[in-house]
Order: sequence, then structure tokens, then C-alpha cells
Amino acid sequence: MNIILLGAPGAGKGTQATKIAEGYQLPHISTGDIFREHMKNQTPIGVLAKSYIDKGQLVPDEVTCEIVEERIHREDCKNGYMLDGFPRTIPQAEALNKMSKVDLVINIEVDFNLLMERLCGRRVCKDCRESYHISRLNGETKCARCGGELYQRKDDNPETVKSRLAVYQVETAPLIEYYEKRGLLFNVVGNTTPEDVYAEVSKKLDTMK
Ligand code: ADP
Ligand code: ZN
Repeated sequence: MNIILLGAPGAGKGTQATKIAEGYQLPHISTGDIFREHMKNQTPIGVLAKSYIDKGQLVPDEVTCEIVEERIHREDCKNGYMLDGFPRTIPQAEALNKMSKVDLVINIEVDFNLLMERLCGRRVCKDCRESYHISRLNGETKCARCGGELYQRKDDNPETVKSRLAVYQVETAPLIEYYEKRGLLFNVVGNTTPEDVYAEVSKKLDTMK
């Protein structure tokens, strides 16, 4: 089963992706995480990606598509995969169609005014990538899941978030209609808790097994 997670930054794609990966044994492929890994290792791709990511812009389609193509053709994806943060533009979706078949697109819908607050208060585990919100951490600095250090992503600041949300509306939101037309879209309300969202998602995934 090949799954795409769609939604604005802060909609909870990463959180759901972690749960789905565990629950359905699918590799979790996050283009954002792949870029952050390259940035950490200061590879040529990392240096390039950083110049876009720090401004809240998208990394060019060509580079992004190449990374995904290489990744989804690895051995661990032969029974399916879950893409988190790709495709993010119509040209990326067109490129993916040429690489692989898509079975389901899960679109997580969240009220726009909630996203800014979620992103600016987000803390992420540097080891297992689990997300938290400061309002629920009570000063805790370690991951409840694995004990890893929590940190704030450099692009989770109000100015960069504003530009990421603007880019989402122009470049990524059109994918909702794109996949709806192809009969692949499954909408889920993301304003509730991660557990409630996952309950909806897994109900749908169970019908597809
Ligand atoms: P979020 O969904 O919270 O914005 P991600 O970790 O998915 O976070 O992405 C972080 C950044 O990485 C994006 O703002 C963008 O610059 C870059 N990026 C991730 N995925 C893509 C993609 N498919 N195409 C272009 N840029 C991407
Ligand atoms: Zn962790």
C-alpha cells in the first residue's frame, strides 16, 4: 500500500506518519527529515536545501523528486511506503505518478489559525522525531518515548512559519483537488487529538488491507 500524507505544516502529518508506520509496518519517508539529515551532515544537497528551508521556501522540485525516486525504489518499500511532505507541488505529483502507483492520499484538515500556534510551540525529539507542544510539556526537555533531547526547529519561528503557510496555500493546497479528481482523497479532521485522528485514519486503512 502506497500512502501519501497531505496537509499544511503543523497539521500533524509527522505525528500520524509515526503511528501509521508502527501500526502498518510501512517505511515513513519524510522529505523534510531527509533534508534535515543532509543539512546536519553538510552535504551538497544539505547546503542547497538549507538556503530554501531557512526562508520557508520549497526546495526545487528537481532535487526533491530525485531524492524520493531513489528512496521509494529501495528494498524496504517493495510492500509499500508512506510519504510525509511529498508531493508538495503539482509537478511533484506528476513526477510521482511516473515513478509509482498511489493508493491513498490522507488529507489532514486543520483550521488555519491553529497552525501558527502549533508550529511556533513545537518541540521535536532529535532521536525519534516525535513532536510535542510546549503547552503540554510542563518544562520537560526529554522525549517521553525514547528519552532523546527535545529541540526547536530553526524554521519553527513566526516569520518563517508565515512564509511556509503562504507557500502551502499557493503550491500545495491545489493537490487536494488534484487527488480528489483521481478518486484517491481521504479527508480527516485534524483539529482534535492525535489519537482521534489516528482512529479515523486506521479505520480507513483497515478497509484497504
Ligand atoms: P512541515 O510540513 O512542518 O513544513 P517538513 O519537515 O515536511 O515540515 O518540511 C520542512 C521544509 O523542508 C519545508 O518547509 C521545505 O522547505 C522543505 N521540503 C520538505 N518537503 C519538500 C518537498 N516535497 N518539496 C520541496 N521542499 C520540501
Ligand atoms: Zn524520542
